[in-house]
Amino acid sequence: MKTMTCQQLGGPCDLPLHGETADVVIKAQDKHLREAVASGDAAHEPALKDIKARWRHPVASMGWYRDAKRAFAALPEN
Ligand SMILES: [Zn+2]
Repeated sequence: MKTMTCQQLGGPCDLPLHGETADVVIKAQDKHLREAVASGDAAHEPALKDIKARWRHPVASMGWYRDAKRAFAALPEN
């Protein structure tokens, strides 16, 4: 199990997200952004827009995805 924060994934807060793989953590961030914006948190809107654009353009987003996976791989287990 590893932990990345919302901020490490391009978001504005330091909420910790836990998962066994980078994909799980990225999905958790997606859910967190949607929930934050749905509850009226404007600070999370730009990050949600970014992540939605990434889902729409997966090939163009490979660089971001690789960076996120590399950052995840470098983290200590917790
Ligand atoms: Zn956040």
